[in-house]
Formats: sequence, C-alpha cells, structure tokens
Amino acid sequence: MSDGVADEAIQSPTTQITGDVEARSKVIVVDDEAGIRRGCQRVLTAAGLEVLTAESAEQALAVVERDPDIEVALVDLRMPGMGGMELLSELSRRAPDVVRVVITAYATIESAIEATRRGAFDFLAKPFTPEDLIRLTNKALEQARLIREHKRLQAERERRLLELATEQSRLRSVVNSMADGVLVCNSEGALVLHNPAALRVMPHLQPEATLHSVEEVVASEELRQTIREASETHTRLSREIQLPPDLGGQWVLADVAPVVDEASGAFLGTVTVLRDITELRRVEQVKAQFVNMVAHELRAPLAAIDGYLSVLVEGLVTSPEKAREMMVRSRQRLKALLDLVSDLLDVARMEAGTVRREIALQRVEEVVAEVLELMQPTAQAASVQLHNALPAGLPGVEADREELIRLFGNLVSNAVKYNRPGGSVTVTGTADGPYVRVDITDTGLGISEEGIRNLFTEFYREKRRETSQITGTGLGLSIVKRIVDFYHGRLDVQSKLDEGSTFSVWLPCVFEPGEATPEASPAS
Ligand code: ADP
Repeated sequence: MSDGVADEAIQSPTTQITGDVEARSKVIVVDDEAGIRRGCQRVLTAAGLEVLTAESAEQALAVVERDPDIEVALVDLRMPGMGGMELLSELSRRAPDVVRVVITAYATIESAIEATRRGAFDFLAKPFTPEDLIRLTNKALEQARLIREHKRLQAERERRLLELATEQSRLRSVVNSMADGVLVCNSEGALVLHNPAALRVMPHLQPEATLHSVEEVVASEELRQTIREASETHTRLSREIQLPPDLGGQWVLADVAPVVDEASGAFLGTVTVLRDITELRRVEQVKAQFVNMVAHELRAPLAAIDGYLSVLVEGLVTSPEKAREMMVRSRQRLKALLDLVSDLLDVARMEAGTVRREIALQRVEEVVAEVLELMQPTAQAASVQLHNALPAGLPGVEADREELIRLFGNLVSNAVKYNRPGGSVTVTGTADGPYVRVDITDTGLGISEEGIRNLFTEFYREKRRETSQITGTGLGLSIVKRIVDFYHGRLDVQSKLDEGSTFSVWLPCVFEPGEATPEASPAS
C-alpha cells in the first residue's frame, strides 16, 4: 500500500515523548507498507521507545500474544489478509490492555465508529507528521499507564477486601469457639457482635433481626445494669452475677470493658465477657464448709481439754481419783484429736494426689487377718466377736498394703464401734468376676436411710441416741470411698436399723497364669 506519508516526511522529530511515560515503553507498528513501518520505527525509537513492527495482522497478533510488555499498537486499517478492523477485534479479545491506535488514509465517520466499537483508542490520519505520531503515541502510552494503574488499584482493593474478609472470618471463628460468652455493644448500646456461648443470657434473641438493643435482649437485669454502668462511667467492671432461674440460675463472672478510640478518646462501646463460675463457687462453698466443719470438730475436744486442765490447774479438784479421771478423759479427747488430724491429713493427701503408694500383689485374706488381729483388743473390750470367714485361695489384688489395711481397718473398726455387747462382726469374701468381693457384716445398730445417703460425706455422723456416746471423726468412710475409687473398685452398704449392716467392697483382682478370666462385673 502506498497511502502513508513518505518516509522522509517523518524523519526529523521535534516532539519528544513527555510526561511520566516510562522510557523504553514498547509499541508495535502494524502496517503492510515497509516505508511506514520503518519511518514510524525511526521516529519512535529516537523518542526513546522500543518499537516492534509487523507487516500483517496475523504476525502482529502472534507478536502481541508472545510479548506482554507491548503497551500500544499502531494499526493500519487496510492490509491484505486479516484487515485492521478484524485485528482490532482480535486484540480487544486477546490483549485488551494494549491500547490500539488506528492509522488510516480513509478516515470516514463510519470507519471511525466501527473502529471505536472494536476498541480503537484514537486515529492517526495519513499522511502524518512525526509530531502527530509522537503526540498520539504519547497519549496512547498515557492511556496504557492509566489502564495499568487502574488494574493495579483494583487488584490491590480486591486483595485488601479478601484479607479483610479472611481476618473477619478468622476473628468470628475464634469468638464463636470461645467457651466464655462475648457481647460487643456499640456506643448506643446496640449489640453488634455476640457468640453462641452468650446466647444463654439472650434466649429470645431473633437471629434474623439486625440490630438489637442490649436493654431489650439481655434477660438479666443485673447484667444489663452492669453494662449500662460501664458505658456511662467508661470504667471496667467485674461482677459475679447469678442469672435468673429461668436462665438456669448459674453464676457468671461478667467482665465489662469500655472500648475507647486511642487517637480521639471517643467512647466506642463495650466488650462483655461472661465466664461460668458456678462450679468454682460450688467448690469454694464446699471448701468453706469443710474448713468450718474442721474448726468445729477441733473446737469441741480442745474446749473440753481446756476445761479439765483449768479445773486441775486451779487446784479445784481435791480428790486424786477425780483428778485422774479428768486426766484420762483429757487423754481420750487428745487421742480423738490426733485421730482427726491424721484422718484430715489422709484426706488432704488423697485430694492433692500426693499419697505415696507401693503397689504390689496383695492377698486379701492376709490383709483381713492382720486387720482382725489388730482390732481384737478393741473388740474384746466391747464384747464383740470377730469372725474371719474368708475362703482360702481368693485371687490377689494389686494395691498398697497400708492402704488396704486402712480400708478394711476403718470398716471393721466401725462394725465393732457401732455394735452392741454380745454382737459380732463377720468378714466373708468371694471371687466375683474380675473382682474380689469382701463383705463386713455386723449385728450392730444399723444405719437409717438418711444415714446411708450421707455416709460417705466428710464429717457426716449419724445423730442418734445410740451413737451419741461413740467417738469418731466422720472422716473414716470418706477415706474408705477414696481408696476404693483409686483402685477402680466399688462400695455398697446394706443396713437395717437396730439389726446390723453389711459393707461390701469390690476390688479388681489379678489373675495368675492358668486361671480363667471371668466375665461377671459387680452388680450396680
Ligand atoms: P466415724 O465412725 O468416725 O464417725 P465414719 O465416716 O467412719 O466416721 O462413719 C460415718 C458414720 O456412719 C458414723 O458416724 C456412723 O453414724 C455411721 N456408720 C459407719 N459404719 C457403721 C456401722 N457399721 N454401723 C452403723 N453405723 C455406721
């Protein structure tokens, strides 16, 4: 084609590429006429650009697709093969970021409309001067830069949005999985965030409704009041609150913190964390009760001893027999105190898990025989008969010997203590599935139904006329229960008031080689 300007017409550029267009920006000149290609290349190279050329639309497409750095394509409309119009359409599809400028000698309104429709940015009418070429290329490069910048900003925005969404969903997952309830309110007292654990104080919250006032949805007046106060005074408040009975009546520790904008000091709202402290309070109460009971149990014998000693020191007792009797009594109370203290130490050691045990294979018959022998003098003094009816050859148990002696010692001692002169205590035993079962049966005072329910609670002692003279700490059976629990055994009591009781103990036994492993388990 020979419709372009003469080569020499574009030989001496006077206009330079200006603005912040990068030097070495890449453009492509697509024209079937070698003179135009060469001319444009010379002018634009002199202006500091990197210029590629293509003599056909097909070649141009191949180059543009290979080289993503090309920013501007100068396209001749009339070329053999694929025409310029078609190339415009293909470029919009395959390389939309390349700014397309049409070079044509036939600039009609129709072709301008058509070329624009196909994505042309501007026109350069032939013939043109180097200044025209440079000015238009400059403009197209500026457009390319704007497109790039726009794309970069868009990508950045999308990345930020994604990060924000990820951050928000991470925060939500953390808050949702917290065991503590979380309520976040804005400065107007509207609930803006909460987690499932907080629903216990908002049972009527409608999830579909958008913004709720804390005053409407929080069902505990005390909690509402605490949040209100923290919002008004901008101070952090921590309160133990008991939820109303219809919310379950649990105790929660409500920690309400005001949130203040660091820069402006403006009050933004409150964050409330609710921790269930029901169990903690229960444990504290049990502890306080325990201390109370210990103090009470210590006080009575100490006061008695103090009384006896005062009378003796003051010289108020003249009869030596009477004085001796008082001293004997004092000793008895001291002995009871020592028993109490050692039982308390046992309980404390078991609670703290610091009991030292030497676990070894033990024969229950031997342990029971030892216990009965130890108890013989006491039983004799109480006129109670002891019978050892344990069969020989019971399976052994793995346990600490001292602990087994304490376990059976406590049970046999009670069976003697809560007995009557002429009564008896019989120890029997049997292999019961994977357990050894030992029964301690007495013909004593028996236990009331209420007594049976509370028997294993620390310091519980039955208050009956018959038992009022019998000394004890009320800790023996709770120690027995702890020992049995430690060895994963089981404890049971059958009793009839005024007829007697049977305490049954099951302990897991060890089977020696050759013995069959039984299936049965202790009745529950
Ligand atoms: P203690 O004997 O020191 O009072 P225990 O914990 O050993 O404490 O027993 C708790 C209570 O259970 C006793 O005070 C008594 O009322 C009752 N008890 C325990 N064993 C027997 C028994 N064999 N017969 C009747 N009552 C018993």
